[in-house]
Amino acid sequence: MPLLARPKRKEQALTRGKKFTERPPVPPRSWNKSATLYAGMWKERTASSIVLKVRTGSCWSWLKVRITGRDLPTDGTELGSPQLVRHGEHWWVHTPVEKQFSRPAKLEQQVTTHGETNICAVDLNLGEHLAVCTIQTVEGSILATRFIDGGNAIAGFRKQLLGRIARNRARTGIIAAGEQDNAALWRKIRARDEQVAHLVSRRVVQFAQEHGATILVFEYLGTLKPTKGKYSRRGNRKRAFWMKGRIFQYAKYKAWNERIITTRVNPRNTSRVCARCGAQVMRYAQGEVAEGYTPGAPLVLCPACGMRGHADRNASLRIGQRLIARYPSQEKPHAPLPPRETERELKDSGVVGSQDAKSFEQPSIAPASRHGNSNGHGTAHKGKRRRMGTPSLSIPPQLRLPLE
Ligand SMILES: [Zn+2]
Repeated sequence: MPLLARPKRKEQALTRGKKFTERPPVPPRSWNKSATLYAGMWKERTASSIVLKVRTGSCWSWLKVRITGRDLPTDGTELGSPQLVRHGEHWWVHTPVEKQFSRPAKLEQQVTTHGETNICAVDLNLGEHLAVCTIQTVEGSILATRFIDGGNAIAGFRKQLLGRIARNRARTGIIAAGEQDNAALWRKIRARDEQVAHLVSRRVVQFAQEHGATILVFEYLGTLKPTKGKYSRRGNRKRAFWMKGRIFQYAKYKAWNERIITTRVNPRNTSRVCARCGAQVMRYAQGEVAEGYTPGAPLVLCPACGMRGHADRNASLRIGQRLIARYPSQEKPHAPLPPRETERELKDSGVVGSQDAKSFEQPSIAPASRHGNSNGHGTAHKGKRRRMGTPSLSIPPQLRLPLE
């Protein structure tokens, strides 16, 4: 039953002889809005300073302030009205950036019609290799691989802080309800997770760009299996898992800004099957005898075709193949798949993916950059050409994660 408007609900309740206790909505008790500087309220903007028109209390006056931060992109982009956003003691100038581009072709069209479409498949992991990316053509030839590492460093950092939180809690005994304990430590963990997710996702997109890929494919996250161990270990794993989701989310909008579309496929058995011939693989650690399947081990060996390689790279290739297998075509020989697996996979992945690709038409701005500068600027317009807010596009620094 559709939800009725409040007056209707009231009427209904009264006719049924019930009490109507619902209060009408109230405006927020306090406002926390950033001031937008429309044209005429700012001038003489340079890379290091801006002149703002501000209210002093008695009159309006021009105030020259210094600014720092990244350079604004200049290539075919349009700057919107900046906003003054308060961050504690400081004020930030947020500037929305608009870039216009034609919408990339639909996923199905790209996979089925262009023989030379390159697909960048990404396998996200909880271990050292945070992301393993492979580029393959729709025909199935493999062009490049990249490992994006740093998992151990971030895990070590988190574990240290989580351990400290656990010790603090043990010392304090009681944790006050509704109040964040160890706020500074939690903030550190969050900030580092956020930073790594941004770096990794940018590198994934850069790799895709370098090889001319127009499709980015991930697998669905699945569920995190509970692990045993100390608080720090469990908390760490959980955060590593959440980070996978964040990397996907960030890669999605970063890719869209480069006209690359993102999709996801079913994760089932992506790492258990050989990317070359489709047989079950053996997974083992270095120095061990290749036998059986050890989840999480770094290497794979295919007993059927003799393929030997890195387990995460194999999984990444399978993810790309699964996307290609979603659109079977008569003329085009697609990636080799075992006959018994093909049918089931098509069923599995056919349903899930298209929906995700569609949701992409209105890519979202990352929560981090959303604060304060999203008033109407991130909205995609209907029609062939679309405009949207783009975050600053400069290249991120090297992924180095020194421990403190
Ligand atoms: Zn094989």
